[in-house]
Amino acid sequence: MAPIPGIRLADLARELNMSAADLIKALADLGVEASGPTAVIDKATADDVRALFVKADSGKVAEVAADATVKDIATAIGIQANVAQKKLMEMNELVAINQRLTRALADRLAAAYGFTLKIKTEEKPVAAVVHKHRSPSGTAQSRPPVVTIMGHVDHGKTTLLDAIRKTNVVGGEFGGITQHIGAYQVEMEHNGESRKITFLDTPGHKAFTAMRARGASVTDIIILVVAADDGIMPQTVEAINHAQASGAPMIVAINKMDKPDARPDRIKQQLTEHNLVVEEYGGEVIAVPLSAKTGEGIKDLLDYILLVADVEDLKADPSGHANGTIIEAQIVAGRGAVATVLVQSGTLRVGDCVVAGLTYGKVKAMTNERGEKLVKATPATPVEVLGLNAAPSAGDTVEVVKNEKEARQVAERRQQKARANLHSGPAKRMTIADMSRQMQDGDIKDLALVVKGDVQGSVEAVVGQLHELEANKKETEVRLNIKYSGVGSINESDVLYAESTGAIVLGFNVKTETGAQRAAERDGVDVRTYNIIYDLVADMDAAMKGLLTPIYEESPLGRAEVRQAFRTPKGIIIAGCYVNDGKLQRGAQVRVHRGRDLLFTGKIDTLRRIKDDVREVATGYECGVTLADYNVGFEPGDVLECFEMKVVART
Ligand code: GDP
Repeated sequence: MAPIPGIRLADLARELNMSAADLIKALADLGVEASGPTAVIDKATADDVRALFVKADSGKVAEVAADATVKDIATAIGIQANVAQKKLMEMNELVAINQRLTRALADRLAAAYGFTLKIKTEEKPVAAVVHKHRSPSGTAQSRPPVVTIMGHVDHGKTTLLDAIRKTNVVGGEFGGITQHIGAYQVEMEHNGESRKITFLDTPGHKAFTAMRARGASVTDIIILVVAADDGIMPQTVEAINHAQASGAPMIVAINKMDKPDARPDRIKQQLTEHNLVVEEYGGEVIAVPLSAKTGEGIKDLLDYILLVADVEDLKADPSGHANGTIIEAQIVAGRGAVATVLVQSGTLRVGDCVVAGLTYGKVKAMTNERGEKLVKATPATPVEVLGLNAAPSAGDTVEVVKNEKEARQVAERRQQKARANLHSGPAKRMTIADMSRQMQDGDIKDLALVVKGDVQGSVEAVVGQLHELEANKKETEVRLNIKYSGVGSINESDVLYAESTGAIVLGFNVKTETGAQRAAERDGVDVRTYNIIYDLVADMDAAMKGLLTPIYEESPLGRAEVRQAFRTPKGIIIAGCYVNDGKLQRGAQVRVHRGRDLLFTGKIDTLRRIKDDVREVATGYECGVTLADYNVGFEPGDVLECFEMKVVART
């Protein structure tokens, strides 16, 4: 017998530098069953697998925008759009050429052609209306470095940030940092000069990656905190990976040196396994032993940060209008949107009109972390800004524009664009149940909300209760992000805003306007109304704990009586009906009753009036109905009971 042309699984696995077990799994994904390492893979399949794995490693990189469509990706990897579409079909993904792909699917498509996708992080200018106020280069001046602290949980990130906050500021007095605004600056003496360092005050790589995902790169230097008594842990490795991906230089802070079981050398050893070779081993990585608890070594760390900053030659032009990034933002009862902006170039001034992500406004007031009112903020300065119309998201860019009208126009255009992207993409909007589930899985840490109430007092009460709930929930790490709050019924623009920001709409003692209801159903936005504040808080509590699964309730639509039964030559069973009550709706659920018997529960497949396909048929009309997967047949007198399943708020 002639041998089967092909290759042994074990050989192919070796060729692809993977284990046989992994290859068997990969083959299973392609629908090919392979028994074990001796199985023979036919040539075509082997080629497919090679295309998936070999070429992906061959370093071909295609750059696309974050909202790339099938066509964009095809262009980037140099194939016809319809070829890409066909390839996606082979992957069981039916998508239009102009449809946006999820990141995972885009990666799979590119990998099939041996490409790795790189997402362009730069935001395309929304329109020419945003004036670029950057002055010509050459006027750039040194600016403070912006530092993020990362590392494994409990290795001392928060303690270190606290210790630095209290560090000897110029003059030896305490920093007087009185409020958390998401970032702070310390000033210190370095080589006889007074220098500033800006620290982002949210440790951990979640916030860092969330910002990077939005295209914001605000961090100049990363401090990797490793506890000397514990060593490199999983989140340390993750932090290293994120840091390396961002390209920012890293300084290792070996913390908890005061502990008797501190073993700094073991950490230096472990670091080499992750391509981080410290200076004493001949590498370039700076490792600073310190104790966030006793304060020992912190001054050294700050000196090293400034040293690295000097090497990096960090500069920005303080002249002209400001550009910056949102560090954090929220709605605070009585103050409106409160956003921390890190100015990155130019100078931000009170009275400036700004666009921040999908929001806009006029800077009413600026405060620093010491609670001091500022009239201007220069590069690398974090300031809390009042005056935006809603809360932008962390990582959103901030730009100063000519006037308020322009600011509003740009923000509105962005909202439209965000909505268009959402509509074209296969991605489904989040419901609270989805979020709750993902929170349970640890994938989401931010529950975005739009809050509406009947009077200002009740809005403030709800917002206050939500903040309290969050404050009591620190351990879950889930943040309630109130995007916007206001007085009045829930209207369409609330829903659209929620949709474009991925938020859930909460109403307290208010109605949902009809247009808003329709928009919510169409766009899948979760709108929840409450009359009892306790219920609202309990629901959010459950959502934050990741416990909120949806409750479905049957909602009747209508009833129809079968007057005649037909069967087409092709065997399609049609019921000629008369609607006695309510309506029949295409796609809705249906039960078929014959006398006391329930024959079938399923879905209405088609609805016809005279010769036309229709979406629904109302009381008093006749129609032809077919049901999906129904083969029992109809008899005159059968009753169709039409209903839908609705998600209801928990009580
Ligand atoms: P994070 O999860 O990385 O933010 O860690 P924390 O800052 O919350 O610190 C975790 C624990 O380690 C706390 O109990 C701190 O008091 C303790 N800790 C932090 N730094 C030091 C240190 O330098 N020495 C000692 N002995 N304990 C420390």
